[in-house]
Amino acid sequence: MDSIRAELGDVKALRAMEQVERSGFVPASSVGMAYEDTPLPIGEGQTISQPFIVALMVDALELRPTDRVLEIGTGSGYQTAVLARMAGEVVTVERLPSLADSARTRLEAMDVGNVEVHTAGPCLGWLPRSPYDAIIVSAGAPRLPRRLVSQLVVRGRMVVPVGSREKQELMKLVRTQEGFSVSTMGSCRFVPLVGADAWPEDASARG
Ligand code: SAH
Repeated sequence: MDSIRAELGDVKALRAMEQVERSGFVPASSVGMAYEDTPLPIGEGQTISQPFIVALMVDALELRPTDRVLEIGTGSGYQTAVLARMAGEVVTVERLPSLADSARTRLEAMDVGNVEVHTAGPCLGWLPRSPYDAIIVSAGAPRLPRRLVSQLVVRGRMVVPVGSREKQELMKLVRTQEGFSVSTMGSCRFVPLVGADAWPEDASARG
């Protein structure tokens, strides 16, 4: 965490990350690596995000303790637990049912109460609990996901990696009365966002 702090400063997200044991979210075989600043495999071809990227993205959401946040791509549930310490409510959606189930079990065992874990439905995001104050997308989208912009409140923030399947640009979007504004935050590499409004399912099997 010290190297991240040196780069990003003492952001609130880092303080929340220090309260969440990342070793509880990685497979037993990777526990020795849990505190390295690197992504790690979590099964099903997916990865737990690199801590630096979690800090950068969560910080950019500018969360307040009363905010309702939507996370796309629960994965291990690590970032979910970090968000739960900073926001009022976290709604998280995962496409792969086995990962959604294990994240739900893990978060319940850790007594993280302000989180709902859902297996993704046919449309991107989670409409029943929209609109959200902030949305964080933990998988790479081929283009800015308009369907998620409409799930944000006006002045709501969204952080999303957008680009090719191999490399993306981290984008921060703020919804405005008229539409939205976008800024870029640097390049990154995520597993693909798959399904409606994203990459086709068969392409994800190749990579
Ligand atoms: N933040 C997570 C990283 C998850 S990796 C962690 O720290 O563990 C990205 C996850 O997004 C994968 O588990 C993948 O299955 C999921 N995903 C991909 N497309 C999705 C979609 N359309 N909706 C919900 N989840 C999706």
